[in-house]
Amino acid sequence: MKTALIIGGGMAGCAAAHQLELSGGWDVTLVEAAPFLGAGVRTMWHGGHPYTFGPRHFLTQNERVYKYFNEIIPLRSCAEHEFITYVEQDNAFYAYPINMQDVREMPDYPEINKEIEEKKREKFIGAQNAKNLEDYWIGSVGQKLFDKFIDGYNKKMWLVDDCKEIDTFNWSPKGVALKDGPKAAWDEAWSCYPFAENGYDEYFDFATKEVTVLLNTKIDQYDIENKKVSLEGQEKAFDVIVSTISPDVILDERYGELPFLGREFHKIVFPTEFVFPENVYFLYYADSDSAHTRLVEYKKFTKHVSPTTLVGMEIPSHGGGKHYPLPFQWAQKRASQYFSDFPTEGVFSIGRAGSYLYGLDIDDCIWQAMLMREMLEQGGQTHPVPGEDYHFPEMQGR
Ligand SMILES: Cc1cc2nc3c(=O)[nH]c(=O)nc-3n(C[C@H](O)[C@H](O)[C@H](O)COP(=O)(O)OP(=O)(O)OC[C@H]3O[C@@H](n4cnc5c(N)ncnc54)[C@H](O)[C@@H]3O)c2cc1C
Repeated sequence: MKTALIIGGGMAGCAAAHQLELSGGWDVTLVEAAPFLGAGVRTMWHGGHPYTFGPRHFLTQNERVYKYFNEIIPLRSCAEHEFITYVEQDNAFYAYPINMQDVREMPDYPEINKEIEEKKREKFIGAQNAKNLEDYWIGSVGQKLFDKFIDGYNKKMWLVDDCKEIDTFNWSPKGVALKDGPKAAWDEAWSCYPFAENGYDEYFDFATKEVTVLLNTKIDQYDIENKKVSLEGQEKAFDVIVSTISPDVILDERYGELPFLGREFHKIVFPTEFVFPENVYFLYYADSDSAHTRLVEYKKFTKHVSPTTLVGMEIPSHGGGKHYPLPFQWAQKRASQYFSDFPTEGVFSIGRAGSYLYGLDIDDCIWQAMLMREMLEQGGQTHPVPGEDYHFPEMQGR
């Protein structure tokens, strides 16, 4: 039997465990710091309502991932749902991605249209040569729509004073900056949520059923170059190590700490059956006055039946967990330094923190675990982050 160590039991760690089981011949140990598997994707309960830490809806364009997951955790489509965004300038809620049906109704449509036409004449040159998020968006949709939808939101999302500071934006919706079609947010992807009342929870147990799971446990010391760790006071060597945690932790912050943003998360029960309009599951707030970025009405996803409804509110924060790797070039370069010190045989770094990629979602964690298994079965591993050069097509970040 070959031995594997998985560090972290979130979606990426559990998916990796299941792929190793499917591959066969592995003796796997999974180490998880928390008292449960699944991290923020795990279902919690408040006021009798199931919820997760922020929305965790299953969205993918990857047929293999969808089929694999749907067979284990049957998924209900929520393709009809719309994202709407509060735009303070107009005191109105509009669809996101920005939709021309709304734009045509805006009070300053003539000026906006002039800007859009100018951008079209420039063939979106501004967007293609953009150096930062602001350039990209102004180059795509013009100043006015940037001010309404993008500027305030991204400043509070990333806790920056200026969107020019955001200088990587491969997670930004290239190609769909302006939509002129149906308002449903994701009409080109599978957009779903589990049927089960406890959401994704059964996946975590199912995926790790053949694995030695150590909860409330952390590695004492890492010697990643030699695929050894000190665990529960003993030195242990493994044939393969799959890390799903931030790479700086594995390498003793030798290039400095990798920055993350966290979330303050508030739960509020309302005394009505629903509070959001029919097809609205999320509300985004693009204004810069309020601190919250997003509200989610959970029963829209879970279909929980109750005379009351639960809404979750997210507020970006400097503490509160390693949820959001920063989309700044200097931080991405620092992550690359760490990855280039990882061995390229038998050490994988997957998942959102493990890849240090904000736009990496639930489906991408599963996809990376599948790629990892292919690399192990076929040999030829060239990089510790599987699929790093893969263009996660719908990557928007959530
Ligand atoms: C608020 C929010 C909302 C989101 N909404 C969506 C969505 O709607 N749809 C979607 O597809 N994606 C969404 N995502 C992204 C998606 O949920 C994540 O990309 C995915 O769940 C990450 O899984 P992971 O296993 O990589 O990391 P995590 O879920 O962070 O798991 C890492 C695990 O490692 C453990 N750990 C950390 N340090 C150590 C250590 N030293 N030793 C041992 N264990 C350790 C942690 O306790 C955790 O369990 C959202 C993300 C956030 C933050």
